[in-house]
Amino acid sequence: MSGSARTSSDPRDTLQGKHHHHSAQKIHVVLERRRSAGHANQQGRQAARIRRLVLNTAFAGLYLLAIGVFYLMGLVELFVLKVATAMIGVSFSVFYLSFATGLNLKTRTQNLRIPLTLSAIGIMLTIGYIAPVTQILLTPFLFLTMAFVMHRVSPKEMLWMSLAVLGAYALVVFAHFRERGDTQLLMLECALLLALALTLPSFAMLAGRVQRLHSALFQANRKIRDIEQDAQRDALLGCYNRRYIVAALEQQKRMADETGAPLCLAVIDLDHFKRVNDEAGHLGGDEVLRSFAGIAERNVRQRDIFGRYGGEEFLLVLPETSLLAALNIAERIRAQVEQHEWSAKLQNRVTVSIGLTQHIPGESVLDLFSRTDTAMYMAKQGGRNQVVVEEPAGDAALT
Ligand code: GH3
Ligand code: MG
Ligand code: MG
Repeated sequence: MSGSARTSSDPRDTLQGKHHHHSAQKIHVVLERRRSAGHANQQGRQAARIRRLVLNTAFAGLYLLAIGVFYLMGLVELFVLKVATAMIGVSFSVFYLSFATGLNLKTRTQNLRIPLTLSAIGIMLTIGYIAPVTQILLTPFLFLTMAFVMHRVSPKEMLWMSLAVLGAYALVVFAHFRERGDTQLLMLECALLLALALTLPSFAMLAGRVQRLHSALFQANRKIRDIEQDAQRDALLGCYNRRYIVAALEQQKRMADETGAPLCLAVIDLDHFKRVNDEAGHLGGDEVLRSFAGIAERNVRQRDIFGRYGGEEFLLVLPETSLLAALNIAERIRAQVEQHEWSAKLQNRVTVSIGLTQHIPGESVLDLFSRTDTAMYMAKQGGRNQVVVEEPAGDAALT
């Protein structure tokens, strides 16, 4: 079967071209992202929380390591190391259980970031109380702990946490002095308290700045995602645009070649559209295109990909679909367009011609498109308002 005789603006010429491979990849990325967004349900979020808990506990391991070194240096007793390990273990179990059982979902923030932070700081203060020498670790580990949550806690919460920490530390200092009456220790601890009191509020402010950055980044990400989605859509009709549909076709062809699953392609062209424009005006013509796209999209299945190739010409990619099933869909679209209540200006008459083929494993996208386009051209020649199936290897075409 020889190709159709179109010349100048033959759309097939541009089917080839390397940039389409880029868009195919982009689609892949977008699909992946959409899939992951779909999975970002409650269960996924809980799993992420548990992963974060494990990571945080790994950092608590650093603290334990430091205490262990203190023990080896003879600065603290084994007892202190044991208490620290036990407290971290208990804290981890409590948080793990509340994530695993969904208890955290009853709280306001659900991720328990403030209780987690406070429990970590509480453990360090307790150890500092039992073994004053470990207070050297307090400042760096305190800031490390706060830094962990600074992008997810509001500056106000950060400030309150800082005040709570200062208050709790003041209690430790007071308890030490009452129990030991050690003025030198008191002076040292007061100096540390002063240092914390001077720096923690600034840190809380810094947290506010980090958080603003964080949310700006989040919004920018969302905007990029919206733009990416817009870039896939036809501005007039809302269906997929040429870039997307061509990339999708290339991707589906590769997948069909890999899996051997049948793949069908339909080219749909509105009949006598110049006449439609003449009778209904250009805006009326746009409206017809919109209605047609609506009819087509209502008749395709979830995994089918329908898009505007250009002008009043559309592509329908039907993955994992036999020719017979595809013919059913194409015929349904044709019939519904014919039966649609078009405006009186159009004498209730708008029709489409559809060419349909099944992908031959291994053939190029260009060949597939070319055969389909030929079938569509035959539908035009055969009187329009019909579906023509082009069967491979010289078989007679069905109508
Ligand atoms: P045929 O049955 O052979 O396809 O006849 P036709 O008149 O549809 O032929 P052709 O494909 O040459 O003409 C397409 C017309 O569609 C020409 C163009 O003005 C019009 N058209 C293309 N895009 C749009 C659009 O976005 N809106 C409107 N209103 N008209 C469009
Ligand atoms: Mg036309
Ligand atoms: Mg056309």
